[in-house]
Amino acid sequence: MPILVMKFGGTSVANLDRIRRAAKRVGVEVAKGYDVIVIVSAMSGKTNELVGWVNETSPLFDAREYDAVVSSGENVTAGLMALTLQEMDVPARSWQGWQVPLKTNDSHAAARIEEIPTDNILAKFGEGMRVAVVAGFQGIGPDGRITTLGRGGSDTTAVAFAAAFEAERCDIYTDVDGVYTTDPRICSKARKLDKIAFEEMLELASLGAKVLQTRSVELAMRFGVRLRVLSSFEEQSDDAGTLVCAEEDIMESNVVAGVAYSRDEAKLTLISVADRPGIAAIIFSALSDAGVNVDMIVQNIAEEGRTDMTFSCPTSEVARAEQALAAIKDDGVLNFAEVIADEAVAKISVVGIGMRSQSGVAARMFKVLSDEGINIKVITTSEIKISVLIDRKYMELAVQALHDAFELDKAS
Ligand code: ADP
Ligand code: ASP
Ligand code: MG
Repeated sequence: MPILVMKFGGTSVANLDRIRRAAKRVGVEVAKGYDVIVIVSAMSGKTNELVGWVNETSPLFDAREYDAVVSSGENVTAGLMALTLQEMDVPARSWQGWQVPLKTNDSHAAARIEEIPTDNILAKFGEGMRVAVVAGFQGIGPDGRITTLGRGGSDTTAVAFAAAFEAERCDIYTDVDGVYTTDPRICSKARKLDKIAFEEMLELASLGAKVLQTRSVELAMRFGVRLRVLSSFEEQSDDAGTLVCAEEDIMESNVVAGVAYSRDEAKLTLISVADRPGIAAIIFSALSDAGVNVDMIVQNIAEEGRTDMTFSCPTSEVARAEQALAAIKDDGVLNFAEVIADEAVAKISVVGIGMRSQSGVAARMFKVLSDEGINIKVITTSEIKISVLIDRKYMELAVQALHDAFELDKAS
């Protein structure tokens, strides 16, 4: 029988009623003749609560124990979903990551999937089971311990299963009815897209649009998975939601496809660092060894052999970054004066494949921000995106102004 992967995010399994509603959707696909792999998230808010408990117990926590705690939310919803399906007379069984086993590398809290053996679940389908419910977000590392795939990781579990089982499609059920030109929760003019190219979705996701985890888009692109985002709250037709697909499958698109934001950014500046070969290597190796995900980097012009070095990272990693920098501060080579952390910044990005061939997008973006009186602190660009760091208090204003200026409420 053809296989379908259906993933339900936190709000779609937030309570027993919602789980019942999701199970009914699964029942519809089973009745059409699909064997279904259901990937579930933890109930909404649960993972945040678990992460909060870990941080309160141990601010610079051991990532293995973080994974042991935060993976637990998905275990509950997987079992409840299987029970709900059984109550509806749909033969179903739950799997935790280690039982599949979904094998990952050893990067605890941000693990990458290495292998998903299919024999175990396929054998059960062969025996008449119709739904395998798998706890998303979790796997097992080479050390035999539980790993997690990073926040939002159930999307990646879903796409990886779709690739491994050669599923006909991977449907991501969430609390919005598709991918929009920007987050519909902060811009009322956001427009739902029927289709979006993998490359654009990849950039939007990595720049903060949390509707899909970045890695899930990467995997879908690499393995040619038909990936669809749709609402678990509405009755759905076969062409509902947004299809994430190859660029060639989209006839027309705007130069700018979407605006993304990332709220929890921090900017750290090392004041008066010695300007010599090798300093960047020392600083960023120390940060990387401490598990800090550095994003933007700017080095000022040197004066009298000294310079300032600025970088951004998630606010949750500032404590780790400061600790790592304190440890190398008096290193004979670096010898910088101090580190200044600004924890109230946000990153705003415009993304679009059309930027490859059209110039002037950056100038327009900067003009829009300046007209709103918003100061730009750091800029980075790539072929299909421009990102700026600004004061967090202007984040929503910036998103709305850019959405208006690039006329994203209108289809091309
Ligand atoms: P789930 O719990 O189902 O995984 P998430 O909260 O992770 O859901 O992702 C869905 C949310 O992503 C939406 O509620 C929306 O606020 C946000 N979002 C951000 N950018 C976009 C976008 N461009 N299109 C749609 N949703 C977006
Ligand atoms: N529950 C995890 C999180 O909140 C994984 C997910 O929902 O995708 O990040
Ligand atoms: Mg999510």
